[in-house]
Amino acid sequence: MSPVNFPSKRHPFYQDVPDEKWNDWRWQLANRLNSVEDFEKLFTLTESERRALSAQGLFRVDITPYFASLINPDDPRDPIRLQVVPQADEIVPFTGMMEDSLAEDRHSPVPGLVHRYPDRVLMLVTTQCASYCRYCTRSRIVGDPSATFSRSEFEMQIEYLKNTPQVRDVLLSGGDPLTLAPKQLEELLRRLREIPHIEIIRIGSRVPVFMPQRITPEFCDMIQKYHPVWMNIHVNHPNEISQELADACDRLSRAGVPLGNQSVLLAGVNDCVHIQRRLVQDLVKIRVRPYYLYQCDLVEGTGHFRTPVAKGVEIIEGLRGHTSGYAVPTYVVDAPGGGGKIPVMPNYMISMSDHKIILRNYEGYITTYEEPVTYQPHDPKTCPYCQSRRPEPGQTGISGLLDGDEMFIKPQDFDLLHNRGGGAHRLRADENKWKPLGIGGQTHEEM
Ligand SMILES: *Cc1c(COP(=O)(O)O)cnc(C)c1O
Repeated sequence: MSPVNFPSKRHPFYQDVPDEKWNDWRWQLANRLNSVEDFEKLFTLTESERRALSAQGLFRVDITPYFASLINPDDPRDPIRLQVVPQADEIVPFTGMMEDSLAEDRHSPVPGLVHRYPDRVLMLVTTQCASYCRYCTRSRIVGDPSATFSRSEFEMQIEYLKNTPQVRDVLLSGGDPLTLAPKQLEELLRRLREIPHIEIIRIGSRVPVFMPQRITPEFCDMIQKYHPVWMNIHVNHPNEISQELADACDRLSRAGVPLGNQSVLLAGVNDCVHIQRRLVQDLVKIRVRPYYLYQCDLVEGTGHFRTPVAKGVEIIEGLRGHTSGYAVPTYVVDAPGGGGKIPVMPNYMISMSDHKIILRNYEGYITTYEEPVTYQPHDPKTCPYCQSRRPEPGQTGISGLLDGDEMFIKPQDFDLLHNRGGGAHRLRADENKWKPLGIGGQTHEEM
């Protein structure tokens, strides 16, 4: 049992359900709410919700009785209700809206395996979830049982991983990996563990939040066999932190699974510094480390949830320094088109000279840090870590510029444009004259 106390709720409609059923995750899955009639047993739907529920082509609706019980039935703007009960605004298009805003499918060498970063992959293992978030970034495939990954696609994913030794971290997502049949999930973990270069396995799951009953002692015994396994859960509002979730996180932590949280910044749900501060402080109480706070992606159905990026900056301004560093997530914009996560935060560096830097803290206190005048630069030639570095060409980025791999990063068609259609002539004959004579402390001969 978790050492901290949080409220535990069960809607009066479910009072007569025997505890052994309520606490059985299979019962929770089998009794999900998805229709006007189901919802009206718990609360009165708004006009907007009724309209959405009868719309064509709506993103799948399904809510576990446990999660629905956390909704205040008297509040049509309840922050949990907004996350899972559709509203008519969902059908409204907006500028910039895309089907696959992160271009995940373009970055997939095989279906369901997104390899965007050099050393880690996102592995989509199912399209099913315990409940469906209205702002789902993967609504293009999630919820649709016919879009789920086949056995042969799974084998292709494994084959790619076996043949790609730079992958040392596999992040399981979907859909929700914890909705897989227990045997299937264990097979997946076992197959990944057979690949020697995979150092860590991560699971991204909202099951502990939607259906904490799934985190059984048997599940915890199973997961421990495949360590190191990390898990990120997904909590957006303090009302989601119940006794059941606290206990599930306690069991996972005791099984040695380090827990993080990823939340999404959502208008009307958690776009408030004070809600966010309560959320992150409650998360660290249940030993869950806030990891990322995401800006809402440009996906169909999310228009009414979007906030300006400035709201995220304001939230970080209100957290960093004001509360435990452990409780402060990294606020990120996942770049449209597939650039990956880009951290955004307030500016703490105010100015600098060649020997000092001016910084400000969260209170507005402005200070001077004197730079050392005798710094002996790190010597890559005698450092074994520098020497054994094997950068992936094309992905070393700004760090690669600093390391001296390249001298510049050029926009697409830069050379073509600056050629100005002039072609070759006598002043362009010796190309070496615009190559660097030496970069990163190395001369041309050493390069
Ligand atoms: C978020 C993400 C990861 C993991 O990123 P971390 O910053 O390491 O948590 C990996 N691959 C893809 C495609 C992602 O979107």
